[in-house]
Amino acid sequence: MDNFFWYVMAAVAAVLVVAAIVIVVGRRRELPPVPPAPELPAKQQPKAEGEPVAPTQPEPALEPESDVPEAAGSRLTRLRRRLSASNNPFARGLLGLLAADRLDTEAWEDLEATLITADLGVGPTDELIGALRRELSIDGTSDPQRAKEVLRAELLRLVGTDADRSLNLAGADGVPGVVLVVGVNGTGKTTTIGKLARVLVAEGHQVVLAAADTFRAAAADQLQTWGSRVDVPVVRGPEGGDPASVAFDAIEAGLAQGADVVVVDTAGRLHTKAGLMDELGKIKRVIERKAPVTEVLLVIDATTGQNGLMQAKVFGEVVQVTGIVLSKLDGSAKGGIVVPVQRELGVPVKLIGLGEGPDDLAPFDPEGFVDALLSEA
Ligand code: GDP
Repeated sequence: MDNFFWYVMAAVAAVLVVAAIVIVVGRRRELPPVPPAPELPAKQQPKAEGEPVAPTQPEPALEPESDVPEAAGSRLTRLRRRLSASNNPFARGLLGLLAADRLDTEAWEDLEATLITADLGVGPTDELIGALRRELSIDGTSDPQRAKEVLRAELLRLVGTDADRSLNLAGADGVPGVVLVVGVNGTGKTTTIGKLARVLVAEGHQVVLAAADTFRAAAADQLQTWGSRVDVPVVRGPEGGDPASVAFDAIEAGLAQGADVVVVDTAGRLHTKAGLMDELGKIKRVIERKAPVTEVLLVIDATTGQNGLMQAKVFGEVVQVTGIVLSKLDGSAKGGIVVPVQRELGVPVKLIGLGEGPDDLAPFDPEGFVDALLSEA
């Protein structure tokens, strides 16, 4: 009997042990799989086509491309191509003359039409055609090389090679130079200031921008975007606020921050000449309590031709303009406007805008301009 008792107990114990083993094994199966130990160094897995492949070594963080102003040399070469015959209707018209077999009446009339359409103006067109006829049509046949030389010389004479086209950025005795940018709305003032700020930063200047076009909140936002791309502070005021007080605050900020150039954006509403005069006059007076305005740039949209020039003349009458920025010369059939703009305003073109991109602004160099117009590339 005793033995029977012990047999029963042993059987129960064995059943319990088996049950415990079954439970433990079962639970282990439910546990998540243990992740494999990481392999070092990680081996590059082949990627599906189009999927970017991660570099094996971490690369130094690069600035976004747009924040690094393009070097002046490559910018000028690139922009010159935009003026050449393959991209520019004005240049195409000029090259039409060089391609003519005979310089007959029809060829001269075609050239005259091209020059007038290009907004060279009646006076300069007559001068250019007169000079070309004297030099070229001795026997009526066209020598393209000779025609090109004469055209180049005459265009250069019309554009002018002896004006001072540098920007006056030098403020007196520790105060920043002040660039006031004026012009009709939509001509490209804000964009020009954005591009100019990049050039100035690349040249090592400490710049402050003033969003004194307080009539459009979008203008201040636009300027802010340009400023932050090159890390330049932008002083702005409330929408509809006093533009002169924004300009004043910007000069103070410039002085406090040790900036050497303050560039002031303005509104270009052509409401009345008296209103414009009041507004720009006040901005200039208020700025000059702190620092002299060293450069007044008038922005003119090249695509608006003679009309744009008539509007721009009003600005010339209310402020002492010291330089012209001719914007939107890229693809404009009206590039001839350079000549009447300078003649009628008596001020040199100093900068040209050749696109909407951040580096599409170039100093105006007459020889580069004329050579680009006469090149086919
Ligand atoms: P603002 O009202 O005078 O400040 O003019 P904006 O700077 O706002 O420019 C008006 C429009 O002209 C914008 O769409 C600019 O991108 C464009 N723009 C400015 N400069 C140029 C240029 O040189 N070429 C071209 N193609 N567009 C330009």
